[in-house]
Amino acid sequence: MLPKALFLDRDGTLIVDRHYLADPAGVELLAGVRDTLHRLLADGCRLFLLTNQSGVGRGLFPLETVERCNQRMFELLDLPVPGFTGICIAPETPEMPAVYRKPSPRFIHEMTARYSLDPAATWMVGDRMNDVQTGLNAGVRTALVSEEMMTAVPTGVWQCRDLPEFYARLRLVADQA
Ligand SMILES: [Mg+2]
Repeated sequence: MLPKALFLDRDGTLIVDRHYLADPAGVELLAGVRDTLHRLLADGCRLFLLTNQSGVGRGLFPLETVERCNQRMFELLDLPVPGFTGICIAPETPEMPAVYRKPSPRFIHEMTARYSLDPAATWMVGDRMNDVQTGLNAGVRTALVSEEMMTAVPTGVWQCRDLPEFYARLRLVADQA
């Protein structure tokens, strides 16, 4: 079944991970991401953005800086309406009590309730084990997109090189069903 909802990490999943990105000019889409998100929307999938931005909690930059960088990413993606259905920027540092900071499943749970999402057709996709843990904590399907193949990925978690490869695998499974 093709996904009905996709929760996406930002840095290292949609755009180049520049560590504490604070300059919109530094936003660079990863290869194939724009096309893949256009296809997912055309398939009727809702997109959500879930990004940890501890630079805010550390006082390195304000939340508006993250929003400006997101805005630049949205310009580059040029998605048709509705684009992203929901966006969550978690500003906490790892030392602070986590509210939305991954691996907290809170945002996924809230959006699941608001939009009546089916956990079996919902995915969390990111490039770190923190993202994987978020998906597992939320009880949704989970994929790690990373050039590095990790050995300690839990059973049932997909490992793909990047978002386009994840999408190709989704289509393959859907076509076989
Ligand atoms: Mg990441």
